[in-house]
Amino acid sequence: MIPFSPPRIDEKIINEVISALKSGWITTGPRTKLFEEHLKDYCGAKKVLCLNSATAGLELMLRWFGVKEGDEVILPAYTYTATANVVVHCGAKPVFVDVNEEDFNISLKAVEEAINEHTKVIMPVDIGGFPCDYDSIRTIINKTGIKKLFKPQGIEQEKLGRILLLSDAAHSLGAWYKGHRTGHPHLADVTVFSFHAVKNLTTAEGGAICLNLPEPFDNNDLYTHLCVKSLHGQNKDALQKTQKGNWRYDIVEAGYKFNMTDLQAAIGLIELERYDSDMLKKRAYIFSRYENAFKKYQWAKTPLTKDSHRETSYHVFMLRINGINENQRDAIIQSIFDKEVAVNVHFIPLPMMSFYKSLGYQIADFPQTYANYSCEISLPVYYNLSDEQIESVINAVINSVEASVK
Ligand SMILES: *Cc1c(COP(=O)(O)O)cnc(C)c1O
Repeated sequence: MIPFSPPRIDEKIINEVISALKSGWITTGPRTKLFEEHLKDYCGAKKVLCLNSATAGLELMLRWFGVKEGDEVILPAYTYTATANVVVHCGAKPVFVDVNEEDFNISLKAVEEAINEHTKVIMPVDIGGFPCDYDSIRTIINKTGIKKLFKPQGIEQEKLGRILLLSDAAHSLGAWYKGHRTGHPHLADVTVFSFHAVKNLTTAEGGAICLNLPEPFDNNDLYTHLCVKSLHGQNKDALQKTQKGNWRYDIVEAGYKFNMTDLQAAIGLIELERYDSDMLKKRAYIFSRYENAFKKYQWAKTPLTKDSHRETSYHVFMLRINGINENQRDAIIQSIFDKEVAVNVHFIPLPMMSFYKSLGYQIADFPQTYANYSCEISLPVYYNLSDEQIESVINAVINSVEASVK
């Protein structure tokens, strides 16, 4: 069986984790701080905070911004559930909007229509690794009429004076937007990456927040504040407490337990060091192999990887089969699995999930989301995928689709 997305765990990673284990410091410490610095340099972010997941990062930022009951957060209907669950955790309402046909990303028109006086945050998702149109989302947020609608509550909202642009960049580390990588201040106020086992860069589990808030925010002060907030509201972390005589600490709020460990950071440091040269290069190569193989077929629609100002991080190869319905897609997936190739669907839209249906959401309200989903099949993309395996994936897909559509 060709697996869908195994991590790249080689001697170099294993040795770095062993070094961390032997160092005597395994929780948040020097490796986490170093990984934060390297990520900051890589993205051009003002400040980076590493945590135990992207979900934790998104929730931490919503909590920091004071999102609560009565507030609304706009996000695509087409995403992983983490994007919406964190809004529910805060007691606020996730407002799903439809997506584009072309790139699977949040529709600007739908975003603008969804904004009202309760809107506090917009959370675009760079689906499959292709960046959203951040300049256009900013333009919407900064329109006079829309700024007037914003009703700030609490000091952070007063200070920003507009809707927060919080990017769920779980897929898009290393992607480009107008000459900047995701995580750069040009894109969003805050960008959150995931280092979950299936993501482009993994730390087994993990995530990072790129802090790029505008003046008068001080992103260094905010980093310090969020360190405390992500560790029980304790004003000193474990490492600081080990310093001579520095044992006394205080709890300044009932904070969370979201910190990254140095074992995770050990994996991340190696992953990042060779991310462009190995990982992105290999993923782009696999994408181009798939693209070349499928482009001669009328039934195939390959994912957008580049336009005049953007380039994907080549995270998910989201193939669409023109002219099929959901049942036919499911049958094709079964046939591909029968040929010993693991594929997937990114994603089952949130309005189709039991929990979100129980809150009253219906997929019929998101026609493009459903259309994209019902003919989508995600193909294996990972570092150790060999040329032979790529060939097997291509043949399995072509044979399964041709048998089904004829
Ligand atoms: C994976 C993923 C997340 C969650 O990342 P974790 O690090 O597992 O919390 C959030 N959003 C999207 C779109 C994802 O695919």
